[in-house]
Amino acid sequence: MQTSAPTDHDDLRDAMRALCAEFPAEYHRKHGAEETYPEEFVNALTKAGWMAAMIPEEYGGSGLGLTEASVIMEEVNRGGGNAGHCHGQMYNMGTLLHHGSEEQKKLYLPKIASGELRLQSMAVTEPTTGTDTTKLKTTAVRKGDKYVINGQKVWISRIQHSDLMILLARTTPLADVKRKSDGLSVFIVDLKQAMGNGMTIQPISNLVGHETNEVFFDNLEIPAENMIGEEGKGFRCILSGLNAERTLIAAECIGDGYWFLEKATAYAGERIVFDRPIGQNQGVQFPLARAYVNVEAANLMRFEACRRFDAGVDCGAQANMAKLLAADASWEAANTCLQTHGGFGFAQEYDIERKFRETRLYQVAPISTNLILSYVAEHILGLPRSF
Ligand SMILES: Cc1cc2nc3c(=O)[nH]c(=O)nc-3n(C[C@H](O)[C@H](O)[C@H](O)COP(=O)(O)OP(=O)(O)OC[C@H]3O[C@@H](n4cnc5c(N)ncnc54)[C@H](O)[C@@H]3O)c2cc1C
Repeated sequence: MQTSAPTDHDDLRDAMRALCAEFPAEYHRKHGAEETYPEEFVNALTKAGWMAAMIPEEYGGSGLGLTEASVIMEEVNRGGGNAGHCHGQMYNMGTLLHHGSEEQKKLYLPKIASGELRLQSMAVTEPTTGTDTTKLKTTAVRKGDKYVINGQKVWISRIQHSDLMILLARTTPLADVKRKSDGLSVFIVDLKQAMGNGMTIQPISNLVGHETNEVFFDNLEIPAENMIGEEGKGFRCILSGLNAERTLIAAECIGDGYWFLEKATAYAGERIVFDRPIGQNQGVQFPLARAYVNVEAANLMRFEACRRFDAGVDCGAQANMAKLLAADASWEAANTCLQTHGGFGFAQEYDIERKFRETRLYQVAPISTNLILSYVAEHILGLPRSF
């Protein structure tokens, strides 16, 4: 399918397509149906070096930009897979890279780049406070050379397939800080050590078959040297990584969008009803054409967000807009693809119902569409803050 993506990543796309072709639809379908983790696929991506794309060469990565990383994630979804199983590895390491000490970077990044360690989890969301992140209730209290963690998180993904986790917790009570975003700190948690020693998890079975969990902290002790950045300034460390996260997820939605459109147009050309291909009817053509236009438009915003990020220019507006446009476009393409297939779209063997569910997540996570609109209203249009 023709797209207006720049052509300078053709080699990268070819290499990704060759790797993805080794994991056909049946592979992803089986893991989707059984809610199991596509371990072999993630290992193959790691072994080929793709998961370390954004780690600088001095720490063993490929030193590529967000643009290339986004092409990698797009191709996973365009090839029928779900980058949600592993995308955390791409953006979580940004917190370490941009805010960690040299010692921490030397300790972790080469092992993350080689695949020896996985840093796939980030624990921010809490059950009682949701999107109102600065009110989170998990506390980290300093005791000698340790911090003691108590509290609860929810929807924390990939813990069972990760070695390390980024944790956001409150080190100074909300009542004692001037700005509500102060007093929060970021830690790196060694999951193997933590599990059963103050941290327990409860997996959540969910719509998208995504490995995600409730997490309970009961006096979990973390060495003080595992704090990333300055105590009390953790909220900014997390925020600074969000543009990369949003742009990568936009690229995944773009990949989904093209997957749905390729599948739907092929079917519309083949399926004969009333003695003609259903795709000859404008009632079938127009929703597909409109979905394509919207995926293409979102794609342009995604590449603009990438361009600005890689140039070191602020890309907050573009990353947020790319995420919103791409999530909407992939959802529209999903719905249109399902409709084009009629009853067959509901059969697991067509993979549409699985991809349909998977792409729906991005209306809600990692940030909901409403919260992006409120960001645009307040920070771009200058309207009064609503909350
Ligand atoms: C499968 C899955 C995986 C996830 N993985 C992770 C993870 O790895 N780590 C992590 O930290 N979190 C994770 N999350 C959590 C995710 O980031 C949150 O679900 C998301 O940010 C929304 O928060 P919430 O669910 O608490 O919704 P709430 O904050 O309770 O909001 C509920 C609804 O109300 C709307 N709303 C709330 N306030 C406003 C407002 N002021 N104006 C307009 N609308 C508003 C929201 O848009 C939303 O639609 C995951 C979630 C899912 C479902």
